[in-house]
Amino acid sequence: MNIISVRGATTIEENKKENILERTEELLNTILDENKIEIKDIKSIIFTATEDITKVYPAVAARNIGITKAALMCVQEMHVEGSLPMCIRIMMDFQRRDKDPKLPIKHIYLHKASKLRPDLAESLAIAIDGPAGAGKSTIAKEVASQLGYVYIDTGAMYRAVAYYCKENSIDWKREEEVIGALKDIKIEIQIINEKQHIYLNKKDITDSIRNEEIASGASTVATYEKVRIELVRLQQELASKTSVVMDGRDIGTHVLPNANYKIFLTASVTERAMRRVQELEQNGQQVELKKIKEDIIKRDYNDSNRKFSPLSKAEDAIIVDTTGKSIKEVTDEVLNIIK
Ligand code: C5P
Repeated sequence: MNIISVRGATTIEENKKENILERTEELLNTILDENKIEIKDIKSIIFTATEDITKVYPAVAARNIGITKAALMCVQEMHVEGSLPMCIRIMMDFQRRDKDPKLPIKHIYLHKASKLRPDLAESLAIAIDGPAGAGKSTIAKEVASQLGYVYIDTGAMYRAVAYYCKENSIDWKREEEVIGALKDIKIEIQIINEKQHIYLNKKDITDSIRNEEIASGASTVATYEKVRIELVRLQQELASKTSVVMDGRDIGTHVLPNANYKIFLTASVTERAMRRVQELEQNGQQVELKKIKEDIIKRDYNDSNRKFSPLSKAEDAIIVDTTGKSIKEVTDEVLNIIK
């Protein structure tokens, strides 16, 4: 008899019974499907859970999907400082029948657990495009967090160029001057505690670029071909290193034309303006809805009519209209498309 072991791991979002069972079932089913294992051939499964998981034994999920004869055991994972929280690990022993072809074993790492074995994880790219205020960054961040991918906000890079211009008294409407300054602009992205930080010449400008003046400058510098070439190169380099959810205007059409999934988010102009007002007010800025609506219409026009990589839906992108929907509803809709 040929006994083989397969490993897997997943993470949960909340220490809740339903979440533990749902994610463990998903992990078990994926291990079985990907390795063509029949339930009757499973001999034993050891489940480990990190110390923050306490609401139910993950082995219950195995019983729920009909694994009733195998020996099951749940234990707590050794706690190592800085290790991945809310994580469930599995070690399954099963019998490989002689008639079975010699399939390579696929160990399965889902959600944030994909970080545990980057060597095994297939690198995927999800492109989220759409006009200003459609909810791209909120949704892209949430989707990236749920899948354990890195979120990359490309708008922040155009904002960084506008910020440099402002700080150095360069008129961003003068293309030649902006292009001339590119050699002095070094943009770096670092992910700290799952949040993207953007550095301009080593200075963290993450929060300083979140205002309407810089947004409008970004929209202007984004029309210059040389600026786009430089930033698209940086975006492609980031996406080549790891699985990403990238949001912008031209990700599906230009930056990552081979992205595994392409989503085009939209919402009515009024709803987008209202969201922007709320966001700016939360940051302590007083703004007028009418003015923000005009700015959004202007930015839509700029983004859709510029010569190089204008905002447009990739042919193979799926449209998700976010008007009147909650963040959770839209996130679930996008995750369903990806599943
Ligand atoms: O998304 P965000 O509002 O931060 O983007 C700022 C500006 O940068 C946009 O209005 C758009 O003109 C430009 N942009 C772009 N291509 C991207 C991302 C942003 O042209 N991929």
